[in-house]
Amino acid sequence: MDEICRLCPRRCGARRAGGARGRCGAGACARLYRWGLHFGEEPPVSGKRGSGCLFFSHCTMDCIYCQNTKWSRRGAGEDMSVETLAGAMRVLAVDDGAENWNLVSPTPYMPFIRDAARILAKEGVKLPFVWNSSGYETIETLEEYKDFCDVALFDLRYSKDETATAASSAPGYVAAARAAAKWAWERENCTPIYRLLVLPGHADEAVENLRWIARELSSEATVSIMSQYTPCADAAAHPPFDRRVTEAEYAAVTEAAADLGFENGWIQGFEASRAGDSLFGDDMPPGHGKVGKN
Ligand code: SF4
Repeated sequence: MDEICRLCPRRCGARRAGGARGRCGAGACARLYRWGLHFGEEPPVSGKRGSGCLFFSHCTMDCIYCQNTKWSRRGAGEDMSVETLAGAMRVLAVDDGAENWNLVSPTPYMPFIRDAARILAKEGVKLPFVWNSSGYETIETLEEYKDFCDVALFDLRYSKDETATAASSAPGYVAAARAAAKWAWERENCTPIYRLLVLPGHADEAVENLRWIARELSSEATVSIMSQYTPCADAAAHPPFDRRVTEAEYAAVTEAAADLGFENGWIQGFEASRAGDSLFGDDMPPGHGKVGKN
């Protein structure tokens, strides 16, 4: 990897190869929390055989409500050499028969993922890549690693930077996520899916992002509107993130999607906002195995 890390929009410049940790917490090697088949992603991502998810530790975002806080923000996971990471990817492809490699929050580790993929390619082990991202990306990194983005599963989480800063300590999120969304839209050989997680008290931001997609990309874009927000981690101390979305808030977003002419994608049922079944969080153990609640 480069001497100083500028892989994400924080561009913190950490000298990770020399032993320093970045703002995200990532160090000199990949760190993976869990890897296994997941059947709960959007239908073309899970497919019939399941998506081969790799949950990386130390997300570049820092969301106060993150359901995966144990590894995304607190850094739980296993440090891995490139060979060990290739081993985890091999298990997903060969033993588990995954449809794809679904890289969840991979940005700090893209150099290692590329090296691992090269090892596997020499063995003839190849799968499509899903880049599963908060959307907090730089165009430079996306370009450098474009071969790892057959499917861009990108969030558009906020449309106001003050919310992104307060809830995710992610300055410049809106411009970064929209530039990433546009990059995915304009790239050949990339299938973009835009996820809009409706946040309590901030449904207007999901509506604004739908308007942005319709205006700047196309209302033919594939969107995945999600009701499943559940107050986890530090959310209890940060209203309105301490509650679930209301039916009226969710309806405002789904009705806006219809009004704007979106027809491609998925709208999670409102009942998912009460089920909590799709959340991972503290219940999911580390290592290889099923992805989801036990
Ligand atoms: S990926 Fe992590 S280490 Fe690299 S620039 Fe972003 S915060 Fe810093």
